[in-house]
Amino acid sequence: MAFETTCYVCGGTVDDPGLLTECFGCNRWFHLRRRMDQPGIDCGDAVIGESLGAETYCNPCLEKAERDAAASMTREDRAVAMARFMAGDQAPRPAPDVPPPPPAGPRRFRRVEDAG
Ligand SMILES: [Zn+2]
Ligand SMILES: [Zn+2]
Repeated sequence: MAFETTCYVCGGTVDDPGLLTECFGCNRWFHLRRRMDQPGIDCGDAVIGESLGAETYCNPCLEKAERDAAASMTREDRAVAMARFMAGDQAPRPAPDVPPPPPAGPRRFRRVEDAG
């Protein structure tokens, strides 16, 4: 089995194929240390996937994912704002530091006899 020895991100070559990792996004090989106390450089990062455990992505793929996330978030925010406008809900959102109303406790009845 042949090993890639060139990091496509920075173009650097390695003697030890273990210093390169395959990107989950583009299937190209890039610098990624297996251990953070290892000498070397990182041209990507490992992220925790939903089900497969750690997934490794090169920097270009990470940047692209971040751009996509930012773009979709903006679209979603616009859609939410439009939905709120269509529903006629123009009330300002409550400040995040307002505590929720306390749970209803036992009611206190004021007896009419006591009022006078
Ligand atoms: Zn590199
Ligand atoms: Zn990639």
